[in-house]
Amino acid sequence: MSYIAPVKDQLFVMRELAGIDAVATLPGHEDAGLETAAAVLEECARFTQDVVAPLNGAGDRDPSRLEDGRVRTTPGFAEAFRQFAAGGWQGLPHPVEFGGQGLPKLIHAACTEMLHAANLSFALCPLLTDGAIEALLVAGSDEQRQRLIPRLIDGSWTGTMNLTEPQAGSDLSLVRTRAEPQPDGTYRLFGTKILITYGEHDYTEDIAHLVLARISGAPEGVKGISLFLCPRRLPDGRRNDVKCVSLEHKLGIKASPTAVLQYGDEGGAVAELVGQENRGLEAMFVMMNAARFGVGVQGIALADRAYQQAAAYARDRVQSRPVDGSVAGAAPIVHHPDVRRMLLTMRAQTESCRALALVAAAAFDIAQDHPDEAVRAQQQAVYEFLVPLVKGLSTEMALEVASLGVQVHGGMGFIEETGAAQHLRDAKILTIYEGTTAIQANDLVGRKTARDGGRVALALAGQVAQTVEALAARDSVDARAVARRLDAARQALVDTVQFICARSKDDPTATYAGSVPYLMLAGTTLAGWQMARALAAAEDRLAAGEDPAFMRAKIATARFHADHILTRVPGWRDSIVDGAAGLAAMPLEAF
Ligand SMILES: Cc1cc2nc3c(=O)[nH]c(=O)nc-3n(C[C@H](O)[C@H](O)[C@H](O)COP(=O)(O)OP(=O)(O)OC[C@H]3O[C@@H](n4cnc5c(N)ncnc54)[C@H](O)[C@@H]3O)c2cc1C
Repeated sequence: MSYIAPVKDQLFVMRELAGIDAVATLPGHEDAGLETAAAVLEECARFTQDVVAPLNGAGDRDPSRLEDGRVRTTPGFAEAFRQFAAGGWQGLPHPVEFGGQGLPKLIHAACTEMLHAANLSFALCPLLTDGAIEALLVAGSDEQRQRLIPRLIDGSWTGTMNLTEPQAGSDLSLVRTRAEPQPDGTYRLFGTKILITYGEHDYTEDIAHLVLARISGAPEGVKGISLFLCPRRLPDGRRNDVKCVSLEHKLGIKASPTAVLQYGDEGGAVAELVGQENRGLEAMFVMMNAARFGVGVQGIALADRAYQQAAAYARDRVQSRPVDGSVAGAAPIVHHPDVRRMLLTMRAQTESCRALALVAAAAFDIAQDHPDEAVRAQQQAVYEFLVPLVKGLSTEMALEVASLGVQVHGGMGFIEETGAAQHLRDAKILTIYEGTTAIQANDLVGRKTARDGGRVALALAGQVAQTVEALAARDSVDARAVARRLDAARQALVDTVQFICARSKDDPTATYAGSVPYLMLAGTTLAGWQMARALAAAEDRLAAGEDPAFMRAKIATARFHADHILTRVPGWRDSIVDGAAGLAAMPLEAF
């Protein structure tokens, strides 16, 4: 089997770290405890392993194509999508009143990981549809929600997110697509959108394009941008005036059709306003935040698949005598300490980021549904702090992990037939779309740290300190070693937050020079915190005689994470706090 879903680890994280029991006390989620999660995850594992994963390589070799203005996706993908929709998977986290299953984000995030690991190109379409549903839930009128969301959930439509234009990428204030109001209350859209994922495909009868555009006469900048819904087909069945004029040829995720969409060549694409005029970016941010979290999960998914493949290869490939003399002749390469270092680096990073993402998902669920308003607000702040970390850290680590995956394969990793190279090529997009790592880091520094004087960041550091204290008091060599490393990382986090809060107003260049290292530092510390908590839980379960092989592996992985990954954190602090001047010293014209 090319992919085995990590159900056991996901359930361990849900139970021990993310607090699924607490999530299952929230109104509306009473049936969503560990038992439900286990049943849903097992079913999802079967679908993703058996139906979706086998198509991953085919998508790379035989990508989507544009033929006579229509997109033909990789053979097998449309049928897999039909099964995905029929299985109710699109509706998993969405409200029951629109045909969804209303399950918590915690369970949905675990299923999402499986789908992305099985086939990133395939899973992008449901990811964007989720975002469209979220945007309609927040900004759509009652009538729009009733009309559109059930179709998005039952798989008769999919959703897209149309932000990017040739001159407007990271900076959406430069969006130029024009919306002309019509006497009947609709609008006509004119403009070009580029790099639109699943902007055209052959899965469904229709597509709901959510489009950022400017109503004629609207103010310049972000305050003049509105959100529109533009269907591929008009109510009478004719094609709307939105055409896929080309598909991009890409480094990776080749089966996902990335379209250039031309609006309004024949009189204007018919569209309707979603939400209020000039408030489009706010609604789009809802969609983007959901998608950013989802892209972070893509990173974890891809890293896990790359790890699984590398571990299998390392057990099989025979080369060289082990240094410890444990085998007389050449042995499987997993015997070599450096190969084990690579495999554990891959595994520890994947598991730590998975734990952080699921903890963030639980914070989201509590923020949505907890009866106490103060608890909701506090968990919302935590979730918002964690989103750029989940997105930025998990995707950067996926790139490192996928690269290590190629390295474990040696020369065969560089040859396409093994599939290791596909993971590396696919991983690169994750640090770019839904806001590059730099854009996540700007958000983390500005809105999530400096704006509240580091309140949320320091509160989390306070919780890390409690874990350090608890681990240091345990009668365990591993726990005490992890406590020491975690405490050093915690101190580096506190130092950096204080540096950012003290300098961001007077010296923004110095602060933002360290924005990405700060994202890596904060993310790694909080992911390492989850591994430290996992170690304590695994020691307790082991003492109770529960699943010794799994618990021992978790303890070893947590210890490795502390010694080999958390140790990177103080170095980031030094480069942020001491290194900013070096960046400013180089004049612009010297580049
Ligand atoms: C395969 C693929 C699928 C995509 N799917 C979609 C989609 O479905 N919908 C959609 O709307 N878009 C989509 N995109 C577009 C994607 O979101 C953008 O490419 C991305 O936001 C970056 O914008 P850009 O390419 O214009 O790069 P630029 O904004 O030109 O950035 C170039 C570099 O400058 C840096 N930079 C820019 N501004 C800053 C800043 N303020 N601070 C620090 N660094 C900065 C960036 O980090 C980057 O390194 C997709 C792109 C690809 C490749």
